[in-house]
Amino acid sequence: MKIYPIETGNFKLDGGAMFGVVPKTIWQRTNPADNNNLIDMSMRCLLIETSRRLILIDTGLGNKQSDKFFSYYYLFGDFSLDSSLAKFGFSRDDITDVFLTHLHFDHCGGCIEYNKDHTFLQPAFKNATFWSNEAHWLWATEPNPREKASFLPENILPIQESGQLKFIPTGLNDYLDTTELGFGILFADGHTDKQMIPHIRYQGKTIVFVADLLPTVGHIPLPYVMGYDTRPLLTMNEKEKFLRNAADKQYYLFLEHDPIHELCTVKHTEKGVRLDQTYTFNELFN
Ligand SMILES: [Zn+2]
Repeated sequence: MKIYPIETGNFKLDGGAMFGVVPKTIWQRTNPADNNNLIDMSMRCLLIETSRRLILIDTGLGNKQSDKFFSYYYLFGDFSLDSSLAKFGFSRDDITDVFLTHLHFDHCGGCIEYNKDHTFLQPAFKNATFWSNEAHWLWATEPNPREKASFLPENILPIQESGQLKFIPTGLNDYLDTTELGFGILFADGHTDKQMIPHIRYQGKTIVFVADLLPTVGHIPLPYVMGYDTRPLLTMNEKEKFLRNAADKQYYLFLEHDPIHELCTVKHTEKGVRLDQTYTFNELFN
């Protein structure tokens, strides 16, 4: 098995929305804002190569939205999904599975593209199975007003229409030990319904793709919860349990949205669980 970090590009979001009730004077120490109060966000995905599969976890926001849409998100940097895959010798057609932590546009927009003539939408990974779960799919396709701007039908419905969609079974437990994809999944309901957090064993370590359970290292203290979360009190419970576990078991947290840090570890302190170390992917894995 080999794992590769896949940078798909950077964007900006309102810093206040990203930190909920935490005042700017505090959050700007870890996540500095520009003149429009926007903070930098990455869209860092993960690629898992096994003998039989090439699995991409999340896809970034893609390139099919209108210029007006993109103008709200201030894309910047030189990364793209295609160039990052090419760096490791892969192309989109090699991907056998696309695993979607959830269906917010910055996680799944890259699944779907326009055809050459710009007349219809099609999967951007023509040989891939797309993985979601049924509860989240229903939640995303009949969105509440709060999340409606994040669940874009053009990112979601063509996946189902292509016949390439499969669901991970959810059941009653919040953790699914192994899946046919070869990693465990933690289900979390605070950010959105049934977000899926992959736990991957690799080179004697556990990498957790924390997605929007923990967007940046600035979000480690419990009340630092995004204003976007649908159930903030539940996020705090889920985060507390997860971070304790991560400190006990020395998990390596792979950060999708942190503009600087690829991975971090956490430790127990008198104030609760806090950041321990940050790492680049190359420092930890070869
Ligand atoms: Zn999200």
